Amino acid sequence: MKALTGGVLIDGTGRDPIPNASVVIGDDGRITEAGALARLPLDAEVHDVGGRTIMPGLMDAHVHFMLAGEQDFESVFLKQTLEYMAIKATVSARNLLEAGFTTVRDVGAPGRLALSLRDAVNAGLVPGPRILAAGRIITATSGHVDLLPPGVSRVDGTAGRIADGPAEILRAVREQVKVGADLIKFCATGGVMDPQLAPDVSEYSAEEVQTLITEAHKMKKPVAAHVHGAEGAKIAIRAGVDTIEHGTMLDEETVQLMREAGTVLVPTLTPSHQVRQQGDAANLPAHVMEKFAVTSAAHAQSLTMAIEAGVLLALGTDAGTPFYPHGLNAIELQLMVQGGLSPMATIVAATSGAAKALRVDDCTGSLVPGKLADLLVVDGDPLTDIALLQDQSRLHAILQGGRAYKDLL
Ligand SMILES: [Zn+2]
Repeated sequence: MKALTGGVLIDGTGRDPIPNASVVIGDDGRITEAGALARLPLDAEVHDVGGRTIMPGLMDAHVHFMLAGEQDFESVFLKQTLEYMAIKATVSARNLLEAGFTTVRDVGAPGRLALSLRDAVNAGLVPGPRILAAGRIITATSGHVDLLPPGVSRVDGTAGRIADGPAEILRAVREQVKVGADLIKFCATGGVMDPQLAPDVSEYSAEEVQTLITEAHKMKKPVAAHVHGAEGAKIAIRAGVDTIEHGTMLDEETVQLMREAGTVLVPTLTPSHQVRQQGDAANLPAHVMEKFAVTSAAHAQSLTMAIEAGVLLALGTDAGTPFYPHGLNAIELQLMVQGGLSPMATIVAATSGAAKALRVDDCTGSLVPGKLADLLVVDGDPLTDIALLQDQSRLHAILQGGRAYKDLL
């Protein structure tokens, strides 16, 4: 049993910070007590964290382990071997944990890349956050992540699992379930990083989307939809989708539908920011830059509408996309605050909000009795300076399930 004592507790539920608080962690890695405690258990190993903040480990609902921030992402998709990607992904997993991310969700990778990484982390083979993985991304012919030019095939497959029509969609969902996917990811609209559909074009009919979501839910798997345009969003929300990823071009009707249905928005603000930071040096294909211009122009307004409507939010980054290697994920918190969300609501989106979206809120996402001690001890106050979470030298301790990955206490 150990106890962290004397810190300011931000427990991840959204309640006010508790000064001079303690967190007691049992030998099973679960929190037994948290708050302003009158006394600590006599047998606890006590660590004084006075002047520091105790908060839940960060969570990211949208990463891609197949990518590691490469500028030339097209050659990764078309030429990089699955084996190379897997080696790369083990490095990314360690980088995520060192950045204070104790749980992440991979929303699409070729083969069984992210599923195998999840299993390797769970087996203690490599350090990394707890991983939930979608397997491959279900998408229509000509849709987002239909990556290969006509007539070209890749021996080990791509992240896109092409499926058209209800029968193929059923098979595609069942394939992901068979290989152990934690959720189903599909593309409701076109995307940015491919030359095909415009981001506001819907890929699937309402019937196709309903088939996909009904089958996934029957299998007890939540569904994440890649969405830019409002029409594709509405089709997915009306069919019962669990999370809207990106949601760059939402309208008022869409955010109201989301609020009523309890659909979670995962905004992924950082990729366009990272590309903008590069300026001309980005040197991405012209069609990608054109699509970035369209989606990023609408993105800020979409987020504002969602915040004002009271839509549930979960932090997600799209880490792995160009100039965004895994480990820089905490930039997203700063961009959410700049986008109008309060620092506390941003931390909730990055902890208990993400835990609910990922359906792991029974075991993590907040520092309350019974939950696993996935937590950070941070130098300073992230509520007054959210950017400090990007500085790894200020992450004093990183605990995962009560076990110290980094512990300078
Ligand atoms: Zn993505």
